[in-house]
Amino acid sequence: MGTNNPNDPSLKSWIESANQYDCHFSVQNLPYGVFSDKKNSSKRVGVAIGEKILDLSLIEKTHLLPVAEGTFNQPSVNAFMALGASVWKETRNAISSILVQENRKIHDHAVLLDQALVHLEDASMHLPIEISEYTDFYSSREHATNVGSMFRDPKNALMPNWLHIPVAYNGRASTVVVSKTDIHRPLGQIKLPDQDRPILGASKKLDMELEIGTIVGASSKMGQPIHVEQANEMIFGYVILNDWSARDIQVWEYQPLGPFQAKAFATSISPWIVTRDALEPFRVQGPEQDPQPLPYLKQEGHYNYDLNLSVSLKPETANTRTIISKTNFKYMYWSSPQQLAHHAVCGCRMRCGDLLGSGTISGSNSDSYGSMLELTWNGKNPLTLDSGEKRIFIEDGDTVAMTGWCQGENYRVGFGEVSGKIKSAIKHSFSKE
Ligand code: MN
Repeated sequence: MGTNNPNDPSLKSWIESANQYDCHFSVQNLPYGVFSDKKNSSKRVGVAIGEKILDLSLIEKTHLLPVAEGTFNQPSVNAFMALGASVWKETRNAISSILVQENRKIHDHAVLLDQALVHLEDASMHLPIEISEYTDFYSSREHATNVGSMFRDPKNALMPNWLHIPVAYNGRASTVVVSKTDIHRPLGQIKLPDQDRPILGASKKLDMELEIGTIVGASSKMGQPIHVEQANEMIFGYVILNDWSARDIQVWEYQPLGPFQAKAFATSISPWIVTRDALEPFRVQGPEQDPQPLPYLKQEGHYNYDLNLSVSLKPETANTRTIISKTNFKYMYWSSPQQLAHHAVCGCRMRCGDLLGSGTISGSNSDSYGSMLELTWNGKNPLTLDSGEKRIFIEDGDTVAMTGWCQGENYRVGFGEVSGKIKSAIKHSFSKE
């Protein structure tokens, strides 16, 4: 049987846990991830559904999916992404057909059912994509205004280019890690205000940045600019991204070329890629862009998403996490397709597996800021956690977790979570002088 519309809000799954109103992995979502488990240690691609993972490396053998065998028996989603947007859509339709309540084909196939469904709790999640390159943008007007006010001039908080260019820097793909990977506090050059010379030391101003990661699935040609609409069609999906940042290293190094070591030590992403197709019902208009962007950045239609986001922090000794920020992706000034169109306009080739960070997502209220830098206003207003502890920046043993979901009619399309725990800096043997 064919499912006409996998985004139909009335769809339910025969996997009951997917039908809970607050479940992130409803049958309308179907996000892709790479997992392994105790029974089978090889990494392969699956789809999250309720509390389960549907193992696509087994399902593809049934010929119920419109892809060649082996497409999902891979340690990344790249081979599937390379097949292009029409195959992404057909495959999503086919997976939806398998999982909707009306379909008993897999449900009644006891042997396959037993093998192809893995409980999320029994799985280890891995980086879902082989990341070609990683670029980090700076596209929240509220965030850029807060940072500009703190470090430059509140009256001229935005740089003159900011309302014309989706500003970005090239980051490191080599240190993008999946959720639950521990992060060591980075070493770097730090110049204290009362010292003439910098020292090499462990960052004392370790921060997080709440972002959405855009995953590019289709490649572009070197030398060939792309339109915003084409850029949108090149996007496979999205993850939540924590752009860990060392503010004391950053403030000393960032002029004139931008952040380098302050950001290069780690970036964490959530393990499930929520597809652009699943987010389609949640498209909303972004903030008005004034002045009008140049024609190559013009977007017709809605390219922002109504996606609720929150950040929590849990000290090692605390029993509970404290929510420290709540915001929404819809506030972003520059949309992801605009970022991608800008990236390619010079002729830069974009590749399958490229990762674009949105930039820190901050709302307009002080409890909707996406970094500790803003939440504590560079340490001036410490946060008090539910355990009574105070925080200016992130301390050793702290776990930072970020989550996000789109709210449908009695269902959610959720991202799960990206978390990371901070470990002390690795001991070094560089002499003091
Ligand atoms: Mn960032």
